[in-house]
Amino acid sequence: MNWKEFCKHLDQENVKIEELKQLAERDFNKYGIYPGSINKYGESWLFIARDCCSKSLVVYGKNEYFEQFDGTEETINGKHVKICGLNDDNCSIIMKMFPYTKPVNHRGKKITMGLGDRLGLASPGHLRLIKDMPVFPVLAQQSIRELNLTGRNYRNVLSAAAWAVYQEGYTSGFGADGDHLKTPEEIKMALDNGFTMITLDCSEHIDNKAASYSQEEVNEKYMSIDEQERARLENAYLGKTFKLYDGTEITFNEDNFRRMVLVYIDAIKYTINIYNSLLKSCGRNIDFEMSIDETLTPTSPESHYFVASELIKGGVEITSLAPRFCGEFQKGIDYIGDISTFEKEFIMHVKIAKTLGYKISVHSGSDKFKVFPIVGKVTEGEYHLKTAGTNWLEAVRIIAARNPALYRRMHKFALENLEEAKKYYHISADPSNIPDIDSLADSELPVLMDKDDSRQVLHITYGLILKAKNQDGTYTFKDEIYSTLHKYEQDYYNSLINHIGKHLSGLGIK
Ligand code: ZN
Repeated sequence: MNWKEFCKHLDQENVKIEELKQLAERDFNKYGIYPGSINKYGESWLFIARDCCSKSLVVYGKNEYFEQFDGTEETINGKHVKICGLNDDNCSIIMKMFPYTKPVNHRGKKITMGLGDRLGLASPGHLRLIKDMPVFPVLAQQSIRELNLTGRNYRNVLSAAAWAVYQEGYTSGFGADGDHLKTPEEIKMALDNGFTMITLDCSEHIDNKAASYSQEEVNEKYMSIDEQERARLENAYLGKTFKLYDGTEITFNEDNFRRMVLVYIDAIKYTINIYNSLLKSCGRNIDFEMSIDETLTPTSPESHYFVASELIKGGVEITSLAPRFCGEFQKGIDYIGDISTFEKEFIMHVKIAKTLGYKISVHSGSDKFKVFPIVGKVTEGEYHLKTAGTNWLEAVRIIAARNPALYRRMHKFALENLEEAKKYYHISADPSNIPDIDSLADSELPVLMDKDDSRQVLHITYGLILKAKNQDGTYTFKDEIYSTLHKYEQDYYNSLINHIGKHLSGLGIK
């Protein structure tokens, strides 16, 4: 392994760490050492090095943690050296030694961005892009659905992000979001693993049916709410007008008040309960996001105002709130819908959020190029935006370019299993718009990642692709996906810099 040749430079007297980093950068192809990962700890050096097939943490010389690392020991230049895998246990030690590799909450940060990394390989590319930009990255961001579909757990997800932070020497802080969590057990699991943000999905407590009740049904169900509670709500809202910070008014009238209460009342109670019992008592400041985006109809300004002010009264400190916007935010493709209606509604949501003291969060924010300029402008640069699947699609793009035979197999498998994947994700892709892959030359394959139909098909089948196994128990695609992306890592980072970079410039971030 070539990094061993580098070690003689570590032994020079009075060697400066900056010089070592410059050398590692200039001769990256020779040594395979990530410049940002070179650190001195006591009398020892640490760095991450790559070879043909994997990456390792090298601990060169003994330090107080040396014995705890799990790895193989060698002697190089008379020094004790340990070569360690980038696993969860070693990551826990790195977090103790270098606290910047631990996630932190994002209080006070204006632009925060979820950069979900389903493979655990994308974060270094994201960090190289945003390192000098006013963006706080939430690198670890996965929903339970994504954990199940990728076969990972929260510890793996956080370790991958922390190793990326260590590799890149990124010391400005990052977050970890337990995304779309529904139950106390899920939230506990994320908190126990050190996650710093919780996105509560209370869709199971939102009564979507209430939107279509007849007026009699509404009245009847409304009367079943506790009398005192009804009186409290009516006193607080009914016939009342609330002024937002700029003078815009929100009024609650009899017509839709009862219906609105029925839709959201259980979700509000559930959220207050979860927040007070789990988040308040966990001993850390958690970024709490309330997501009401998985409803059937767009969130009205009145509903948004009502839900948020009830939560605040119940003691909930909201960091961000995700309403359901008009139009469609489908996975991996641009916004579908009327952009001027979106802008009008978005302005109202932002005003409410500003008045009540939190940020608006935009979910399924990958590839929504039509809405980015509006988000950047209307929020005046204060928002949370989540992306995830698009980072997987950039990985697929690299596979299509660099390992066309593997891509062809993945593509056929994705089409064959599309119906299964549609159980988890709603998309409008029409497979008949995708050209027969056998008629395409290798050089035409990456272009499929620029077309909506093929993007969506590959987007939503990621879990089935990653988990598929052959009869002998080996993975059909997974190992080859990882080895291809290891080999062409630089390409993957560059394509993320380019693609997420387009997101940032659309948002007006420089
Ligand atoms: Zn969402």
